[in-house]
Amino acid sequence: LPRDLFVPVRGNSTGVEFGDSAALADLLAEIAAAPTHVDAAPLIDGVAVPDRQRDVISPIDGAVIGTVQEGDEAIVTSAMAAARAGYPAWSATPVETRAAALERVGDLIEENRGRLIALLQSEGGKTLDDCVSEVREAADFCRYYAAEARRTLKPCMLQGPTGESNELRYRGRGVFVCISPWNFPLAIFTGQVAAALAAGNAVVAKPAEQTPLVAFEAVKLIHAAGVPASALHLVPGDGKVGGLLTADPHVAGVAFTGSTEVARLINRALAAKDGPIAALIAETGGINAMIVDATALPEQVADDVITSAFRSAGQRCSALRLLCVQEEIADKVIEMVTGAARELTLGDPRDPATHVGPVIDAEAKAKLGDWIAAMDSHGALRFRWDEDRALPQAGTYVPPAVIALDRARDLKHEVFGPVLHVVRWHADELEQLLDDVAGSGYALTLGIHSRIDATVAHIATRLPNGNVYVNRNMIGAVVAAQPFGGSGLSGTGPKAGGPNYLHRFALEQVVTVNT
Ligand code: GLU
Repeated sequence: LPRDLFVPVRGNSTGVEFGDSAALADLLAEIAAAPTHVDAAPLIDGVAVPDRQRDVISPIDGAVIGTVQEGDEAIVTSAMAAARAGYPAWSATPVETRAAALERVGDLIEENRGRLIALLQSEGGKTLDDCVSEVREAADFCRYYAAEARRTLKPCMLQGPTGESNELRYRGRGVFVCISPWNFPLAIFTGQVAAALAAGNAVVAKPAEQTPLVAFEAVKLIHAAGVPASALHLVPGDGKVGGLLTADPHVAGVAFTGSTEVARLINRALAAKDGPIAALIAETGGINAMIVDATALPEQVADDVITSAFRSAGQRCSALRLLCVQEEIADKVIEMVTGAARELTLGDPRDPATHVGPVIDAEAKAKLGDWIAAMDSHGALRFRWDEDRALPQAGTYVPPAVIALDRARDLKHEVFGPVLHVVRWHADELEQLLDDVAGSGYALTLGIHSRIDATVAHIATRLPNGNVYVNRNMIGAVVAAQPFGGSGLSGTGPKAGGPNYLHRFALEQVVTVNT
């Protein structure tokens, strides 16, 4: 298949220019007009099914912003049955029709940005610029997978020495279960579902338990765009519901984004179940390092560190966890980073001036708080945002913090929040540092700041990380241009938003005719 540069015909979504006051005012008016309360439920064949109800709480201030009916064993069984029943018709739908429906989804997502952003803020605690990027990314996924399906999933004739006609065809695997995270509750939710649908699968989607409302709205838009309700079903719920879905013998594949630990549980469940041997596409975490040598520009490094470690409250798989800076410029870089971190505006993410919003829930806040306190008791804490001012009273806010470590290998787990760890290294320690970074077993994002091309080339070749960012920040991979995902403990590949993704969702068939 051709693997040349490829962008969807319509290109990437453009988002909003915040410097354009009229555009910003339009956006804020759309958000203000959005409903402030949403009631979500399982959607099986498009019909809301009542079940156990609970309140959905905003991380901004603890307010109740909606309710969700969560699935149970009976709902999982009926969603799987409905998806099996819906599969043949969707699978037989021409690629062109499936792709056109997904393009309409992209349009509807953009047209409904106000209500989607309102939920991304209230339910996910995301800042306005993160919300705008997320709407853009969700639309991009739909258009990109539509274009990729048209380009690469059409039947084609194969050449060879057999003297027969050999036709390669693609179809969906069957029922795909999509399990998405709370940190990109619209973009990753929609991306997984769009890829599975583009390849001809029926889908049962389970959003993260913290963010069912935006997923519920997204499914309604996907149905409104022309994807039959029989091809996409929604089952909100917690990990128990995910366990039931992945143990179902009829599952043909799972797309999962979340923790490495849960990816392993899913892998085991799929191995143990009856029925087809299922494909797993997992995108998990990382202990992402940025390696800065003495030739780097400290001002630029500081700016990129702040963006990579603290924007989105550090709640991206791609976020910088471990800054490794060469001794000669370490004092300067660390001083600039802590100085800039002190200037961050932390608070209500609905205010366009806010840089850092809350973390997702009380459990995340407590875990991060325990880590910062433990590092403080070891004398390793170098900065915390609230050392001279208070955090907001309500809501699950965590102060951006900077922690000094002796060695890169001292950081043994992913700290999923606005916490930056820093190590210093001497010129003769680079190889040991690279061993330590690789030794974590994770290989997601990697930052390099250096003005020496040979150093950049050496580090990027030595480490297998999926996304390497040179002399820039490490977050916000762009669909089509920067396919996203890693290897090892960071995931299975293929990369989301890249040219090899759809094929993992599809089955191949070769029809050989004796002519
Ligand atoms: N694709 C996102 C980025 O490049 C990260 C996705 C994630 O956190 O799962 O920042």
